[in-house]
Amino acid sequence: MIAHVTVELENPRLETLSPSRAGDFKTCPQLFKFRAIDRLPEPTSIYQARGTTAHIALQRLFDDPLDERTPDRLFDLFREAWTEVRGEEEFEGLFADEDEERKWGLESLELLGNYFAIEDPKSFDPEDRELDMLEDLDGIVIRGILDRIDRDADGQLIITDYKTGKAPPEKYALSSFFALKIYALLIRKRTGETPKELRLLYLNGPTLYRLPIDDQQLDAMDVQLRALWKAIERALATDRFPTRRGRLCDWCSFQEICPAWADDEVQASPSHA
Ligand code: SF4
Repeated sequence: MIAHVTVELENPRLETLSPSRAGDFKTCPQLFKFRAIDRLPEPTSIYQARGTTAHIALQRLFDDPLDERTPDRLFDLFREAWTEVRGEEEFEGLFADEDEERKWGLESLELLGNYFAIEDPKSFDPEDRELDMLEDLDGIVIRGILDRIDRDADGQLIITDYKTGKAPPEKYALSSFFALKIYALLIRKRTGETPKELRLLYLNGPTLYRLPIDDQQLDAMDVQLRALWKAIERALATDRFPTRRGRLCDWCSFQEICPAWADDEVQASPSHA
């Protein structure tokens, strides 16, 4: 999910924002700049390749009739999806050899098998999948892809996001719903309906985190999003994107060029007498 940005020298301006990039700014404004403004390329990891392929397989599983949505069918869909995408430029050179790729594939299938411990895809049909959302929230244009929307037995909307990474401990799980709350705002804007629940479905574990949602929470999210948008506009106008060193830096692709780590680089460099 990529934010579309117009950068004019005199008057930088953000045209649309994705929930992921909004999360980046909240976590570390400098990370947001690297990704959304500078558009610096990031190397694809085997974990991202797994996430992309698993999302395609899970999406397609629901094209099949109820009784054919089995683990074996999901595994076949994963293999088919990987065959389709493995030739794409971003996935080139990911594995040293075939053995490494095969090992990755087997681990991926094991992870996908966990899906059936969380829900039974034979028991329901989603309302929608891979929804391309583009909504103007009264001056803030948000764009992103939503994994799945369902209706429960009472006809209420449930939003689900698939995750292939590790689930955070329960006490930190709430902040992980940030992007889904934005999606819930978009759904409310588009349909006039307030979703009843948000679900983060972590295949790794497996773990399912559920968050009941209501208008009051979404109104609070709307206020938070507007404050964030203003902060982004201010950062763009002043070209000031503070760094936030923390645990995330360990996984950040930009650590080597990040100003927050520049002093460490100097100290770590051998002296040239
Ligand atoms: S290395 Fe850390 S401080 Fe620097 S951009 Fe990445 S997350 Fe932010």
